[in-house]
Amino acid sequence: MIGETDTELAETGVRGTVSRAELRQVVAATYHQIWWPTTDRTVHAPDAPPHWSPEHAAFLDPTTGELLPTWDEALDLLDDDPEAQPAHILRFGPQLDAQGILVGSPQAARCVRYLTKYLTKSVAECHTPTTAAESDHVDRLAAELRHEPCSPTCTNWLLHGVQPKNAHAGLRPGVCRSRAHKREYLGYGGRRVLVSRKWSGKMLADHCAERRTWVLDVLGDIAGRAEPNRYVWEPVRPGDPDTAPLATRLLRAVAERVRWRAALDQALERAGGKPCPTTI
Ligand SMILES: [Zn+2]
Repeated sequence: MIGETDTELAETGVRGTVSRAELRQVVAATYHQIWWPTTDRTVHAPDAPPHWSPEHAAFLDPTTGELLPTWDEALDLLDDDPEAQPAHILRFGPQLDAQGILVGSPQAARCVRYLTKYLTKSVAECHTPTTAAESDHVDRLAAELRHEPCSPTCTNWLLHGVQPKNAHAGLRPGVCRSRAHKREYLGYGGRRVLVSRKWSGKMLADHCAERRTWVLDVLGDIAGRAEPNRYVWEPVRPGDPDTAPLATRLLRAVAERVRWRAALDQALERAGGKPCPTTI
């Protein structure tokens, strides 16, 4: 499914069979509101930010010396304000291009390649500025993003008279380390793939345990449950001499996938079966 949000193109792969009419209704009704304190105006200048008070373990207004509201207090004020509006509303735009694709078809392979390309691409790579005006535009955008609050913990809340969530000494507006402020991300600091617990209900530890079981199964009796201490499992640290270089590991992973795909195709051929009709 390809839909256009208000600011960018969203590409999504959905497994299953969903009618286009139903999909249109879901997309039209889908939105997300972010309830944050207002950022309409800057209360403090970046070169005169609120001070940290070790005595209060909080930030103080540099002019009045008063404690700034904590993040939770600022949210409570929003709750009490009947006029309050969400800081951001995200919804899909009017364009929707839904395509049903059969698994195993050349079109499916093409779409997977397309999605993968954009999952790994830097946002800034989509268009290279070719004129001075375009470069200036990107420069202005990057400068604006530097002081835009990116998340509840962003140091830039200090410019708006609010202590960031989990505030501590040493925070300075304009130096938040989040990817959202980086030029190559252009304000997009979020995940491009949902974390596993949101689609499979499993945590990373569950996946690791499953993978371990799978590896033991592949190793079969040699690894055997009879000899549970034969293998020692430990995380691989950077610089471990037993670890092959990243390029080699990636190529091995690709070769492994190619081998799996060939084995699956052979198995399907032997069974005389056709790939199941599945929408991607
Ligand atoms: Zn930030």
